[in-house]
Amino acid sequence: METLYNRLEATKVDIVKIAVQANKITDSIVIWKLLEYSKRKNTEVSKSLSFWKLSKHAKQKAVGIIPIAMGEAGKWTRILGLAHGAFMTYAALDAGKETAPGQVSARDLIEVYRAKELNAETEVYGILGSNTSVSMSPYMHNAAFRFHDLNAVFVPLQVNDLEAFIQRMVKPETREIELNFKGFSVTIPHKQTIIKYLDSIDETAEHIGAVNTVKIENGKLRGYNTDAQGFIEPLLNSCGNLKDAKIAVIGAGGAARACVYALQKEGATVTVFARNLEKSEALAADFDVELQPLSTQHSALDTSHSALRTYEDFDILLNTTPLGMKGKAEGETPAVAEQLKDLHLVYDLVYIPFQTRLMAEADRAEVPKIGGLAMLVAQAMAQQKIWTGKDAPLKEMSRAVLRRLQ
Ligand code: NAP
Repeated sequence: METLYNRLEATKVDIVKIAVQANKITDSIVIWKLLEYSKRKNTEVSKSLSFWKLSKHAKQKAVGIIPIAMGEAGKWTRILGLAHGAFMTYAALDAGKETAPGQVSARDLIEVYRAKELNAETEVYGILGSNTSVSMSPYMHNAAFRFHDLNAVFVPLQVNDLEAFIQRMVKPETREIELNFKGFSVTIPHKQTIIKYLDSIDETAEHIGAVNTVKIENGKLRGYNTDAQGFIEPLLNSCGNLKDAKIAVIGAGGAARACVYALQKEGATVTVFARNLEKSEALAADFDVELQPLSTQHSALDTSHSALRTYEDFDILLNTTPLGMKGKAEGETPAVAEQLKDLHLVYDLVYIPFQTRLMAEADRAEVPKIGGLAMLVAQAMAQQKIWTGKDAPLKEMSRAVLRRLQ
């Protein structure tokens, strides 16, 4: 890359632009190093003179660089580039009008990420997941940083190979570039695997066996779990207390672990329903809960409900599976109205779409319901508190995510 850059520079250009496709996040390291290289080469150039004046008068001409790593995995280079000396960045005129992969809309670049206000001292936070393009976290967290007027930004960090990312971009002893990372939100599929790369983990995350928040202080990574708190707060607001309440938890994945932990802490009795009992045995054993098979025949196309299990022995039904989520499972539900009668509450962790099929079934059964949005915002607010020590702004964070969902 440096050779290529030198060859382009030798043609007496004012600006060198290099855009490469980043298939994985560590592919963008080379682009970031190039930015550093170009800056080093231009160090003799006085900062007090403008770029164009320099081009005309200085003996040694400053050469601007536009380094872009394309694709979702390189999106962060488009957001942070200006702050680290890139000559300019590209943005789409509107969402859906992107001219290259990973481009952010101009409005988001300026209003959500505040790309023009960032600098090399900006603290960088981000969401680590295998599909960050659908995440609501950048909207919520950047709204909170803006509210508190903090020199901080939250970016998508699409990561598949977690080990390579942590070694090459995060750990002070081994990283190849300096990005001033201060923390991460962690999502599917890294909530459990990240634990082995952390220096320490708090008690709640240890009990749950999953981390959704990382704080970096003095180069040390500490893991937390705010899913449990984010989940229980809206439920307690709705029910008062959960002592001896009987809860049917559908699903046995990472989110279920946080929910079961929080429910048991409040004195509730939990039964977990899972489609794969063998796979779910670890959760049942770790939390000492009853495990029952979940029939998954209730797709949107299903019309005969006579043989379905009812949840009449329970007070609350909680969906922790992706059934009903936008995409392949949209329109699906873990239970239909006929099964929900006599429940006191249905709580669906899915938040896209805003009104899921399960919530529509709850309406049909005339059972009160809570959607996943309340948890989404509450767990993010708890993350803000861990990172910044400040109380997070509920109104601004909710508004940011609602606007996006609508
Ligand atoms: P996960 O670890 O992948 O667990 C998903 C669970 O659902 C597993 O037990 C899985 O069973 C089960 N499942 C998947 N598809 C199913 C189907 N078609 N029928 C029956 N069971 C199925 O995921 P997670 O992190 O727990 O997240 C689960 C859901 O909760 C996601 O939709 C996520 O968006 C939502 N969530 C929301 C919030 C919030 O703030 N509102 C927070 C966390 C998660 P197998 O093991 O057999 O695959």
